[in-house]
Amino acid sequence: AYFSPSKLVANTSVASAVRELINVDNIRTTLHALTKKAHVAGTENNLQVAEMIKNQMISQGLEGVHFNEYNVLLSYPNWTSPNRVEIFDENGKVVHQTSGRSIALIKEEQNDPFSEIQWLAYSAAGNVEGDIVYVNRATPKDIEHLESMGIDLKDKILLARYSSNFRGNIAQMAVRKGAKGCLIYSDPMQVASLGTGINETYGRTDKMPPHAVQRGTVFIGFGDPQTPAFPSIGDLYKEKTEKELINEKKIPTIPMLPIPYSEAQKLFENMKGDAVIADFQGKLKVTYRYGPGLINNQKLRMIVHARNEERKIQNVLGYLRGNQEPEKFVLVSNHYDAWTYGAVDPNSGTTTLLEVSRALKEYQNKTGWVPARSILFAHWDAEEYGLIGSTEFCEEFRTQLMRRAVALINMDLIGGNQTLLGLSNPTVANVLREAAASVDHPNPSEVEKGRMTLYDSWKYFEPSRNNRSTHPYQRIPAGGSDHLPFFDYLGVPIVFFITSSLDAPPTYPLYHTIYETPYLIEKILDPQFQMHKAIAGMFIEMIVKFTESKILPYDLKELMDDTSFDYLPRIQAHINKAQSSGNVTEYLKQGQKQLDLLVKTVQELSEIVVRRNISKLSSLPFDARVNENNRLIEFEKCFINPHGATGNPQARHLLFHPSPDNWYDGDAISQVHDVITKIETSLDEQKLMQLSRQLAKEISLVHLAFICAKHSLN
Ligand code: GLU
Ligand code: ZN
Ligand code: ZN
Repeated sequence: AYFSPSKLVANTSVASAVRELINVDNIRTTLHALTKKAHVAGTENNLQVAEMIKNQMISQGLEGVHFNEYNVLLSYPNWTSPNRVEIFDENGKVVHQTSGRSIALIKEEQNDPFSEIQWLAYSAAGNVEGDIVYVNRATPKDIEHLESMGIDLKDKILLARYSSNFRGNIAQMAVRKGAKGCLIYSDPMQVASLGTGINETYGRTDKMPPHAVQRGTVFIGFGDPQTPAFPSIGDLYKEKTEKELINEKKIPTIPMLPIPYSEAQKLFENMKGDAVIADFQGKLKVTYRYGPGLINNQKLRMIVHARNEERKIQNVLGYLRGNQEPEKFVLVSNHYDAWTYGAVDPNSGTTTLLEVSRALKEYQNKTGWVPARSILFAHWDAEEYGLIGSTEFCEEFRTQLMRRAVALINMDLIGGNQTLLGLSNPTVANVLREAAASVDHPNPSEVEKGRMTLYDSWKYFEPSRNNRSTHPYQRIPAGGSDHLPFFDYLGVPIVFFITSSLDAPPTYPLYHTIYETPYLIEKILDPQFQMHKAIAGMFIEMIVKFTESKILPYDLKELMDDTSFDYLPRIQAHINKAQSSGNVTEYLKQGQKQLDLLVKTVQELSEIVVRRNISKLSSLPFDARVNENNRLIEFEKCFINPHGATGNPQARHLLFHPSPDNWYDGDAISQVHDVITKIETSLDEQKLMQLSRQLAKEISLVHLAFICAKHSLN
């Protein structure tokens, strides 16, 4: 590599020139190499995958390539003795039992016996017996319905189904309701809506076969459960023991197990109780019943082997150093650990990201181009267990990241070639949208329908839900992948994107199954790897935007005019509703007063933001621009409450946090809504007085964030 100023080109063409260098053959080859065996975090196989990634990064010529290690609490099944569900008759004789193993269908690829075991991470171990109750998606609404029917969940074994809900929320609900155990299955309605038999499911299509299951974590939270808001470095102090975690219900206290829909069918066929309402009915050919219990005095038993163990994990990191503001960096990431072989989740992303760093470095070698800011490429470990590698990293490098990280560009998987799905902080939403609009849609059937770019199909499949925005629906930043600790704990603005086949929540029917091997991509989801190439293009566009823009491309206006989230009107509406619903007006007064003050500050700040002249700022001398960029980074940090939310030191963002009902959904200013709801439903005078003051406090904290933001721009 040599530096040759004469070869320097304009930024816009840097991105297109780098995109030209993307080679899908590399993506295909690396995908095969990474997915030879099942590679669950904390195992020897996953360490081997980490070594491969590291070696590739070194041979690409990235700087400072290394493992960033932590010792964290993980969870494993018994790899040789599968978990089981048994139906036994009144004499105790087992009349039916599940195998607990998935069936390999493409034998050359699916030949690792560890990939067959069906399990959920952080389940309690145990052998429990009881009556079964079907709880649909186990949402608060579903549980309310069951309670209105007089169906008690205490000491029952629950049967829940996956849909767009996070399985950790199902587990939390089951524990809260005093269930003995919980089974989760994927209904054909979500994962095989076109399939009526095995011929039309996987092998030929992307539909889930009757005997497959979605694995996954049932932990709600982020990072090593033992060390909230503290990094699990080596032998450093760990705040919580496994026992405490169980006592405090931070991890499930009951056995949890995923079962195939063929087994759910068997259970429904044997269930007692009334037929369910339409919303509880799925697509199995059987009458769905609530239970409780099975016909003919049969009973159900769950046998789950599980153990939690502290293991070493390693993030793989490497840099491309910048030459103008080298101490500021853009983070670009994907995780690499998987529940089975990981061909879609996450190594479709891993291999694409590796090709992106290779192409950027090749471009540098050819032209002498050096990014203005540094780029940190990160391949996270143990994402699947609860965003563990990325969170520990955020906790260890808290100060450096808060001061110097410009943005995180995070991807997770290429789950189909139909559309892009994205979410981001409002300030960087423009970067994600522009990148999506600059990439031609690789799927001819989308193009035929006039959806020429990834942006077009994204907007078509996820249209805005209000009439003020013409853009795709702007999701509130939420849980579900490694961007969470960055925005919620550190206030680093994030963009996150995946692609989807739109057939099954979260994105594709074979999510977390044994069938996540290259066949799924090469024969079904993205045969020519053209969506992979398109996603590489998205990465490159965004990297160049964040490293090269003279003034950081944060659009403060988008946060201030709140076109997407309506966060302040929603608080006002909630207060109004509470006022009209009960005799609590008095207790909302202090909150209303604080809200009026907040709205005033937001208006003032909006005016300041509108007056900012970006092109003028961009032509400032270098030092003045650096100062301006520092202020922008500071602006974002104003929304971090260093104390965290009450009872949760990691939930520090004052505007965005995962929804308490579904970790995959985001919520805006949930801590304020939480208090208003409590006021709405409380009858105790003393308690109401307290809540009244708490409401004022929570709104003031948000207000303070905007005051701080004003200072950053003054
Ligand atoms: N991506 C993983 C899942 O959906 C982990 C998500 C999380 O823990 O937030 O299961
Ligand atoms: Zn993933
Ligand atoms: Zn996953």
